[in-house]
Amino acid sequence: MSSIAENIARIEKGLKQETRLVAVTKTKPAEVLLEAYQAGARRFGENKVQEMVAKSEELPKDIEWHMIGHLQSNKVKYMAPFVSLIHSIDSFKLLKEVNKEAVKNDRVIECLLQIYIASEETKFGLSEDEAKEIVTSPELSDLTNIKIVGLMGMASNTDDTEVVRAEFKGLKNLFESFKQYENPRIEMRELSMGMSGDYLLAAEEGSTLVRVGSAIFGSR
Ligand SMILES: *Cc1c(COP(=O)(O)O)cnc(C)c1O
Repeated sequence: MSSIAENIARIEKGLKQETRLVAVTKTKPAEVLLEAYQAGARRFGENKVQEMVAKSEELPKDIEWHMIGHLQSNKVKYMAPFVSLIHSIDSFKLLKEVNKEAVKNDRVIECLLQIYIASEETKFGLSEDEAKEIVTSPELSDLTNIKIVGLMGMASNTDDTEVVRAEFKGLKNLFESFKQYENPRIEMRELSMGMSGDYLLAAEEGSTLVRVGSAIFGSR
């Protein structure tokens, strides 16, 4: 089995400069994250707020913490002081909560809208129409301490690469079309798509952030 450092190096080597790696460290203990850190990883993705907070307290301060999991409003306050990017905004209500906590911390928190692109029923996320409602909402201008910087999506869990590619293309198209909305709260520059099984495909289709866990750390 190859080491964490070798896996990170191999994955980084396969990516073009415009696609950055988010190492998905959920369920892994802090010493494993430290090993990834020592191999050069600086962006870590977690899916549980408490776990992210606990690890952030133990690990070096120059790590970017990315929240990639389904998020409950009442947990936002714990990560608001330090979270770097929230990938998983799936309602306007959640965005308002993030804004409220960002105000308390006197910072602007960058967010992605999570779009439902897979054919499976269990995935969280917004439909294209729901996302459009958010980016065109007159209320968005009141949210002075958040910025919507892009979109996130998870493709179907299938070996059919044409299905996966079509889902990534759909998300990329939506991303491009959202660039038309001129609002200081929107700046479409990050497209978070691609996981261990499909990150190369996602990168080909224009991903700027790939979220890779098991291909670095082994299966969970
Ligand atoms: C767990 C997870 C990943 C990483 O999955 P791997 O298949 O282990 O690379 C990526 N994105 C989200 C939202 C996840 O929950």
